[in-house]
Amino acid sequence: QSLLARIERLDEPLNSFITVTAEQALAAADAADAARANGEAGPLTGLPLALKDIFCTRGVKTSCGSRMLDTFTAPYDATVVEKLAAAGTVSLGKTNMDEFAMGSSNENSFYGPVRNPWDLAAVPGGSSGGSAAAVAAGLVPAAMGTDTGGSIRQPAAFCGITGLKPTYGRVSRYGMIAYASSLDQAGPMARSAADCAHLLGAIAGHDLRDSTSVARGVPDYVEGLDAPLTGLKIGLPREYFGDGLDDGVEAAVREAIKTYESLGATVREVSLPHTHYAIPAYYVIAPAEASSNLSRFDGVRFGHRCEAPADLIDLYKRSRAEGFGEEVKRRILIGTHTLSEGFFDAYYKQAQKVRRLIRQDFLDAFEEVDVLMGPASPTPAFDLGANKDPVSMYLQDIYTIAVNLAGIPGINVPAGFAGGRPVGLQILGTHFAEAQLLNVAHQFQ
Ligand code: GLN
Repeated sequence: QSLLARIERLDEPLNSFITVTAEQALAAADAADAARANGEAGPLTGLPLALKDIFCTRGVKTSCGSRMLDTFTAPYDATVVEKLAAAGTVSLGKTNMDEFAMGSSNENSFYGPVRNPWDLAAVPGGSSGGSAAAVAAGLVPAAMGTDTGGSIRQPAAFCGITGLKPTYGRVSRYGMIAYASSLDQAGPMARSAADCAHLLGAIAGHDLRDSTSVARGVPDYVEGLDAPLTGLKIGLPREYFGDGLDDGVEAAVREAIKTYESLGATVREVSLPHTHYAIPAYYVIAPAEASSNLSRFDGVRFGHRCEAPADLIDLYKRSRAEGFGEEVKRRILIGTHTLSEGFFDAYYKQAQKVRRLIRQDFLDAFEEVDVLMGPASPTPAFDLGANKDPVSMYLQDIYTIAVNLAGIPGINVPAGFAGGRPVGLQILGTHFAEAQLLNVAHQFQ
């Protein structure tokens, strides 16, 4: 009740929620109280949180930030939603996001931009900007996000919170509206690595309904949090400290790395030589997958339908023209082009080969060091409206996007401020190294 009142009082300028599910939340809270009274409470029983509006939630509007799904009520729960409910958590509602998770600033939402609680002139990052802002403003202690090319880590960095993108396949994608299926992954956003550890334990695991989820045991992510870091080998990718990195961000990140040295870690430079190909490869692969995934929004099965269509083709055309925003249309066009006959080999196939090289860069680096550290974003949060050109917006993702192409996990840890706005330290590990990342992040906090 206190958080619902806080949302009511503080969320108007932030716009971090699309839907507040007060009634369901109060019922779930009563159920949590009853479980506690019966001695059936687990560590997450009664924990209030919020869900990015990309997770299907039974009986609740699930918009994905789009006009296309403005009237869509999901008929079932995503696995993540089901697991969180089974753990006794209480969802307070659905958070704002860039339309279909396409964006880095939350300015692409049909429901209007989200503002950064640290400075209302600044963006919160994207696409999980509503989740990041809601946690940073203390509207909820934790929220779920998704990360296809940085959408958990970059908004966590811009809002000064902790956000974890797990290994691809660690968390089921069932019921999570697909953007780029080979890159999408859900993860927790919270005030600390310890909180993220509890939440990851609740959502991770194999799911028969997602064939890309990995059949591998879920470790106890909490038990190793206090392990000392003596002897930890940290690699600093040369390519993550080059041109375009803001001086204030670099200073804060280097300061954080010094703290790790004082905790007993050793630091050395490493190289990820194909880094500069990551953005071009991503912006071929992600739009290609998106153009295919978004073909289901045809005005027939679900989603927006235009008024009085003349025939079937008119129905498709106008429903999609009206339902999708500009950035989504741009990506559908790019994806359709790169997949089309005559261009497929030159773009899509080539990008897949580059993706393999990028993955190998990381695997080579992890032969030499345990974790990689660098900035999560080249600048702190920028002003609303400051990045109008799509390509300059895409370039923002330089430090996050390769991680999704490689499928490895990454965590953002708040590491001070530059120009009064939060700075994020990004820590990367090899496949399924979430427990180690959480431990390393926790020792800093
Ligand atoms: N900013 C990137 C994009 O626009 C990544 C988004 C995401 O991770 N969902 O595609």
